Amino acid sequence: MTRSSLLQDAARRAARYLDGLGSRPVAPRPEALARLAALDTPMPAGPVDPAAVLAQLDELVGPATMAMAGPRFFGFVIGGALPVTVAANWLATAWDQNAALATVTPGVAQVEAVALRWLVDLFGLPDSTEGAFVTGATMANFTALAAARHRVLTRAGWPVEAEGLFGAPPITVIVGEEAHPTLLKSLGLLGLGRRRLVRVPVDGQGRMRADRLPRIGGPTILCLQAGNLNTGAFDPLAELCAPAHAAGAWVHVDGAFGLWARASAQLAPLATGLELADSWATDAHKWLNVPYDSGIAFVREPGVLPAAMAISAEYLPAGDGARNPADFTPELSRRARGVDVWAALASLGTSGIAEMLERNCRGARRFAAGLAAAGHEILNDVVLNQVLVSFGTPEVTERVIAAVQADGTCWCGRTEWQGRTALRISVCSWATTDADVELSLEALLRSAGATRDPGAPTPARTARR
Ligand SMILES: *Cc1c(COP(=O)(O)O)cnc(C)c1O
Repeated sequence: MTRSSLLQDAARRAARYLDGLGSRPVAPRPEALARLAALDTPMPAGPVDPAAVLAQLDELVGPATMAMAGPRFFGFVIGGALPVTVAANWLATAWDQNAALATVTPGVAQVEAVALRWLVDLFGLPDSTEGAFVTGATMANFTALAAARHRVLTRAGWPVEAEGLFGAPPITVIVGEEAHPTLLKSLGLLGLGRRRLVRVPVDGQGRMRADRLPRIGGPTILCLQAGNLNTGAFDPLAELCAPAHAAGAWVHVDGAFGLWARASAQLAPLATGLELADSWATDAHKWLNVPYDSGIAFVREPGVLPAAMAISAEYLPAGDGARNPADFTPELSRRARGVDVWAALASLGTSGIAEMLERNCRGARRFAAGLAAAGHEILNDVVLNQVLVSFGTPEVTERVIAAVQADGTCWCGRTEWQGRTALRISVCSWATTDADVELSLEALLRSAGATRDPGAPTPARTARR
């Protein structure tokens, strides 16, 4: 098979896969999982026809995938991939650029620089803001917090990149009780500790309580959150930034999906004061709907991100005035993941992005209204794209979750919210239409009905639907 026909075969197979997602069960069927055993062979001793290799992937692995790219996957908070971003990703993969150095790979360096500028505008961040394309919000938090560590220790006279943390002045790191576990992991990777933190209590929606912010003194990093992974709630950013800055702290915001609220006039009030922070982390593979893996770190003060990340070596050309991506990222060699982001932004435009975000939030509100009308308890204020629903006791809720997943119309996961077991619905795919929400709502109500405790009183829903 020629290179061209191999690539066309891949495109045909991928298109067929994607076209089939709306009509297959969201979770893979047990038969498909059983067939995975066929992959468990010794490694071939010699070359195999690439066309046969591709066919094996398509035929064995494709059916065993979770339909995350489809319209009715509501697990975690992850979204799908816009067709234009899949296509752009293929093209960029074919280019095979090592996107580290602007003078060596000028085309993709320019695309990434433009995409970053567009994002800074879209989120309403200060014009001075610099950014980096990384693998996800975990690494975006890591990258931004490395800049924070640099800044607060430099102010204390400590060159942390050179000397490490041995003998350094201590840094106070303040997080909310609801900080994402990956934020804690990033802090651990930076030597700041996963446990050695000051934890601030949160309210019933998971928002950091401004009245419980401790007194700040000495080198301090305050980590806030825009978009709680369960409720979608935002910390009161403006209220917390002001006292933190007055005391000289660095303020970082984990906005893995919540940062996107700034791209919609309707949702932006949730993130009032976001622009006051010093650094931000977000994901593109969540709500912007680009392929994995894609996150972005932003730092307000120019020069601080490169101070933490840049390397130099004789064989590496300097940027000659252009932005050298490797000066901003943990990685040296790196795929040009900003190309996918640029393609999403260029094809949706600001109004297209707002429409996608608002449609998803409308879907979340519809889920909540439909479930509440049937007598089920919604555990959160549905302010964004997240819905938490309890179907009664933890056991009943677990049974409904299992029934929903087996039904296959849609897929939702479980979570614990402030001591309650809940089914979590996260609406963040470009592909989800209002009709998909209705179909999925019916499946949820059907599953809840089928698993009702026979002793329980019949809720109002039978009369209503
Ligand atoms: C998803 C998420 C993360 C981690 O993002 P990855 O892309 O999985 O690394 C961090 N913080 C919040 C609030 C998230 O929702």
